[in-house]
Amino acid sequence: MKKITMLFAALAVVSTAAIAAPNQHVRVTPLGGIDGEFCPQDRALIFEDPNGTRILYDPGRTVAGAEDPRLGKIDIILVSHMHGDHVGNAHNKAPNSGTCANPDVSVSDVPNTGAVNIALAKKSKIVTGSDMPPFFAAKLKANGGDPANSVLARFGGSVLLGGVRIATVTAMHSNGVDPDFIGGELGKEMKEAGIYGDVGLATGFVLQFSNGLVAYLSGDTGVTADQEFVVRDLYHAKLAVMNMGDGFTTGPREAAYVINDLVKPASVIPSHANEVGTVNGKVRPGSKTEAFLKLVHVPAYVPLSGRTMEFDAQGHCAAGCQPGANAL
Ligand SMILES: [Zn+2]
Repeated sequence: MKKITMLFAALAVVSTAAIAAPNQHVRVTPLGGIDGEFCPQDRALIFEDPNGTRILYDPGRTVAGAEDPRLGKIDIILVSHMHGDHVGNAHNKAPNSGTCANPDVSVSDVPNTGAVNIALAKKSKIVTGSDMPPFFAAKLKANGGDPANSVLARFGGSVLLGGVRIATVTAMHSNGVDPDFIGGELGKEMKEAGIYGDVGLATGFVLQFSNGLVAYLSGDTGVTADQEFVVRDLYHAKLAVMNMGDGFTTGPREAAYVINDLVKPASVIPSHANEVGTVNGKVRPGSKTEAFLKLVHVPAYVPLSGRTMEFDAQGHCAAGCQPGANAL
């Protein structure tokens, strides 16, 4: 009799767990060059909606191709713009290849792009703005994929995929297609002439997840009025992923201004540092990453590769963000 009572007790525990409310957090996992660190080439993030939809943002060079075991299922790939460190012109031989400062990105992704190679293997949709969709549709078709998997979200519009509403927003940057991605005689002649292909403007993204969280992914950008008038006033972004590497994009000072005065999210994840941002998982003293973290007025969480952070609808980190390790 006692055994039977215990069995019922055990069953009650199991069923309670099974019917408990599902975790309503958006999970953000950086796929960087070295586990537990923030390295110069790190761009790629996976966003997992509470409904299970998995979105890969800017695969860049640190995702070790479509075979990277960290990828898992990928429903949607977002490409902010065509530069090789975002769309992927080469990639890591394997996760943790080389060092943080000098990764081994010896595997070429031209002319296809890393984004297309991953999309072909995972049967993902690629969402882009401007005139980038025809480029990706042509690459998918040329490699036996479905061109319909290249999806447009142009400025001011949005597309609902897998329960996540995806919009593109302006990024003040450049967006030329390297002739290496064009290939053939045309690519060769363009390279000799020193000109790039035109697929319109670079973009950022605003994602509206099924739990209500709104995230702004800056792409590569300078300071734009839309960061206030569109990202904040229209979409009310509560989480921002902000480029802060300087030179090519906003540096720490400008990026902190965007966060503090224009977007005003609840949390920010710095990106695109173009430096060794952490050593043994701690922010490197004297780094641009450290400067940015000191200047922003909201919690800033350094994207340590492989360390999943969870955000609630208000943009507050609910799990995986350890003060002292990846926040100042
Ligand atoms: Zn760029």
